[in-house]
Amino acid sequence: MRKGKKAHARLVFALLATLAGCAARQSTSESLALPKPGSCRPGMPCWPSVEEWQSLGHKLTGKLLQPRSPLKPCAEDFASAACNGVLQTLKNPYALQEDPGATQSLGFLGAWDAAASEYAVAAETPEDIALGVRFAREHGLKLVVKGTGHDYLGRSNAPQSFLIWTHRMRRISVQDAFVPAGCPASATPSPAITVEAGTRWLEAYQAAGQRGRYVPGGGCMSVGAAGGFLQGGGFGPWSNAYGISAAGLLEAQVVTADGVLRVANACQNPDLFWALKGGGGGTFGVVTRVTLLTHPAPASMGFVVGEVRARDDASYLELLRRFFAFYRASLMGPTWGEHVVVRPRNALGLTLSFVGLTAEQAQQQLKPWMDALAKEPDRFTTTLQIVAAPGDKVWDRKYAEEHLAAAIQPDTRPGAMPDTLWWWKSNQGEVATYWYTYQSRWLPKALFEPDSQERLSKLLFDASRHWSLEVYFSKGQASASADALRRGRETSINPVVQDSAALVIVAANGDGSNEVPGHHPDASEGAQAKARVTAAMDIIRAATPGSGSYVNETDYFEPDWQRSFWGANYPRLLEIKRRYDPDGLFRCHHCVGSEEPAR
Ligand SMILES: Cc1cc2nc3c(=O)[nH]c(=O)nc-3n(C[C@H](O)[C@H](O)[C@H](O)COP(=O)(O)OP(=O)(O)OC[C@H]3O[C@@H](n4cnc5c(N)ncnc54)[C@H](O)[C@@H]3O)c2cc1C
Repeated sequence: MRKGKKAHARLVFALLATLAGCAARQSTSESLALPKPGSCRPGMPCWPSVEEWQSLGHKLTGKLLQPRSPLKPCAEDFASAACNGVLQTLKNPYALQEDPGATQSLGFLGAWDAAASEYAVAAETPEDIALGVRFAREHGLKLVVKGTGHDYLGRSNAPQSFLIWTHRMRRISVQDAFVPAGCPASATPSPAITVEAGTRWLEAYQAAGQRGRYVPGGGCMSVGAAGGFLQGGGFGPWSNAYGISAAGLLEAQVVTADGVLRVANACQNPDLFWALKGGGGGTFGVVTRVTLLTHPAPASMGFVVGEVRARDDASYLELLRRFFAFYRASLMGPTWGEHVVVRPRNALGLTLSFVGLTAEQAQQQLKPWMDALAKEPDRFTTTLQIVAAPGDKVWDRKYAEEHLAAAIQPDTRPGAMPDTLWWWKSNQGEVATYWYTYQSRWLPKALFEPDSQERLSKLLFDASRHWSLEVYFSKGQASASADALRRGRETSINPVVQDSAALVIVAANGDGSNEVPGHHPDASEGAQAKARVTAAMDIIRAATPGSGSYVNETDYFEPDWQRSFWGANYPRLLEIKRRYDPDGLFRCHHCVGSEEPAR
């Protein structure tokens, strides 16, 4: 269809839709009715013509792409060599991120299945992002934003959508003295790192480390540093020492729904700035870059990894009681973090992190607990390893290959940013998986106090009869440093996190993809796993009234999600959402304002 005819058809469609009172809205700032955000799908008269897509492409510094699912060759012929190649690629999180049609997860049972967008702006500049936002708005397209595609709830992909893909924007600069734009000259400068929207944590850690600095980020190397992770809060192994990642945000540059590039910091657009510090990704605009506070790299940071097996149920219950009593009395505080896994078969998995201690010092701190267990070898069997590394070098691939070879997986693809990329082997199980369920709940600090430890152990024991529970000490802030707590209170994440000593995560996943005929996820296995996970979480929920769930690591079906994710901060977040995105251009599942109809 030629352009003139197409524009006429779109106008007629918009008028008809206005008369029908449904699919069109009258913008206050424009005289022509535009389709409602997200209402225009391929095949409808409002869908942009080939010429309009081409015209958008010509304006970009980056590229306009038509993404395809990476699984296409498998959908066509599962036995083909091309499919076999795809299945290998799917095991590499960085390879997935280089494909605009891919996501880290393949779907979530009963919720979403990975889908490639119809078109994507592979953005290289903030102006590319602004062009994409304006184009989506003008045409009423279903807009999605993707950095790494790590979102568990599938919020960075959608069928029949238009994608703004930030992967190619990964410039980084490290500053000694950063003052947010628009702040008075008398403002105290901060050491900082500025990363563009597509940057992964590994890249941010490496750049900061090379200057002797540490920037608090996520545990998983391939998660994005400026996207959904940060905007939803963001926790890493050392969050008890350094705080929630969003609490280190000094400034963001963001394209809002009107297509305008804004700066948000404590001195300009402070309400938007606050909303971006925990209010969730894909909601208030497209962040083009962020500036984050850095800290001196610690001399040492490390992990204790292992397992303690108990002989029988009674010994396991005793093990849990002793561990949580020891944790509360001797470890709970800024130095220690990460998680334990309370397993069904009477085994307690340990992945504890520490900072500012050598491996020997860490071992010394654990000694009283270990010695007590060693006195009863018929009841408890322990295997533990302790590793530590300098906080500026651990991110360097060469260093990690030499000193942490057993724990890391280097990206060995020829030509793929050679000698740079790697990921933790412990994250491998989450690459290209299909979620049956994923649930989380913050545990209040009160449950860790001496008079509640018996109860805490019993409820974790009872829940573990259904499924494994991961108890993340560094995803609550009750034991955080005073500085981390102070900055954390200025974020928009659910305030219950300040009084929570841990986040419990219980999840189940499997293989398969609905995109590949004959290789679908096992729905019956999934339903059974989900029922058991839910039974475990029901026990935790019943013991934690008024608590909540972490928006970035949560259930697609989380009940009462506004309160659960944001608590008392929700009304203010909704008010800011209405102000910056009155028509609901940025919409995603259980994101702020998503309960309101698009206008
Ligand atoms: C293997 C794995 C390990 C993880 N480890 C941790 C961890 O240690 N700590 C932790 O706190 N969380 C962790 N997470 C959860 C993580 O925080 C979420 O998956 C988060 O959504 C990832 O954000 P992203 O930008 O990387 O992903 P994406 O899927 O690209 O984006 C997530 C959301 O943010 C939006 N978004 C992306 N970029 C932008 C942008 N530039 N501007 C505005 N919105 C944007 C998307 O639209 C989407 O809604 C982990 C997840 C995985 C899969």
